[in-house]
Amino acid sequence: MRVVVVGAGLAGLTAASGLVEAGFEVTVLEARDRVGGRTHGVEVAPGSWVDAGAAYLGGQHTALLALLDRLGLKTVPTTVTGDSRFALGAGTGTRPGRFPPLSAVALGDLFDQLDDLARRVRVDAPWLTPDAAELDTRTAADWAQRNLTHPDARLFFPLFLGEMMAADPADVSVLHMAFYLRSGGGLSYLNAFEGGAQDSRVDGGAHQVCEQLAARLAGRIRLTTPVRAIHQDADGVTVHTAGGPIRCAAVVVAVPPLLADAIEHRPAPPVNRAGDRTAPGCAVKVQLIYPRPLWREHGLSGWSVSATGPLLSTVDDSPPDAGVGVLTGFVTGAEAHRFAALPAAEQRAEATAQAVRLFPGLAAPLRIEITDWVSARYSRGCYAALFGPGDWVRLGPRLTTPHLRVHWAGTETSTAYFGLMEGAIRSGHRAAAEIRLRTDLSGRSR
Ligand SMILES: Cc1cc2nc3c(=O)[nH]c(=O)nc-3n(C[C@H](O)[C@H](O)[C@H](O)COP(=O)(O)OP(=O)(O)OC[C@H]3O[C@@H](n4cnc5c(N)ncnc54)[C@H](O)[C@@H]3O)c2cc1C
Repeated sequence: MRVVVVGAGLAGLTAASGLVEAGFEVTVLEARDRVGGRTHGVEVAPGSWVDAGAAYLGGQHTALLALLDRLGLKTVPTTVTGDSRFALGAGTGTRPGRFPPLSAVALGDLFDQLDDLARRVRVDAPWLTPDAAELDTRTAADWAQRNLTHPDARLFFPLFLGEMMAADPADVSVLHMAFYLRSGGGLSYLNAFEGGAQDSRVDGGAHQVCEQLAARLAGRIRLTTPVRAIHQDADGVTVHTAGGPIRCAAVVVAVPPLLADAIEHRPAPPVNRAGDRTAPGCAVKVQLIYPRPLWREHGLSGWSVSATGPLLSTVDDSPPDAGVGVLTGFVTGAEAHRFAALPAAEQRAEATAQAVRLFPGLAAPLRIEITDWVSARYSRGCYAALFGPGDWVRLGPRLTTPHLRVHWAGTETSTAYFGLMEGAIRSGHRAAAEIRLRTDLSGRSR
């Protein structure tokens, strides 16, 4: 029996691998000319790659770690040894550790309030949180306006949300913000390097995961094949692409919600995958490449946080033993929209100038790689879709409910580690299990 998987990101390829192992005939249809989706590598020196998409992982990401183990891929610790740089208005300077030079009381209170919100959420079903309707009415920007009185907390909150979720506070509901923090393992875990969600990277780049999965699915993946329509009838499903229709018994749609809704469904699902207020996550990743990690020679870790863009935070992403230094800058939230609209030469000039302001004396980079996820046609933003007011309460109850023979995967369908590689892999396992349970190999529904 044939199953079509739409999307060759981590979710789609995990689902496809599970289905092939269970004996199904699988065809993966991918819109881009590459696999990997929101994982993507750039070569910074011959044979040496860094992550232009997803990068960081931690010990709680058990499905990802198991997959890395199976594929023989190793992790390397994220480098944060040395002092941090901050450009936060009055809070500007060099500091040991990562705590910004702002009022510790104000930031402590901000984190306590966020922690309280996150603890209140029912992470497995956020729409069933006791006051879900109320939390899903307001945006995180409204919440900050009402609850953050200290200027330091007001300054730091959007930077924090940008770094954690690639979100402008005006784009997400309070429920989504609280859910995201809880789903990712809690505030302290999500925010931490050593021992936290940003503890490590995949040695050689996270894009290798999808490339290796794809190699094992050889002959079953069609690249440059966007799916336009999925039509179901009493006997099966027809998946429409520019290359012609493909008939199958079941489909896994493993694309972000805004793109899932761009596919024409007949019959239409009872609710869309995205709501009126669902927004694309906003991040542009900027990689400045130097002959070596020059900042380390001045006792700096490469970590920085700035109140003004474009690089709102930077981290040392130098490959181990590669002989090049890579400073990765994150342009997030509203700033990502402004930056993405600039001509490439202006983007490079702004990024270089800010790197020199942050790390005085730093030479001009040898090269700059800019990966704009805001404009990426087949991602529509990152790290993940941002659920706005009303989305969770309306869409949540049907997050994973199959639409007849169409099953849903993708990191946005996982209530555990939503938005992360871990969530994507878990969703792929779930979708494959659903099809295995529902359908025998002859294509008959059980
Ligand atoms: C800059 C950035 C930083 C990130 N940082 C981290 C991090 O540090 N740690 C972490 O864990 N996660 C991070 N993430 C998030 C992580 O990348 C995603 O959660 C994960 O890769 C999503 O996988 P997915 O399979 O659900 O979706 P995707 O990777 O988006 O895969 C969907 C696939 O579907 C294809 N597609 C779309 N529409 C169609 C169509 N109509 N027909 C056919 N194919 C289609 C797309 O081209 C894509 O290949 C980051 C993401 C980005 C971009």
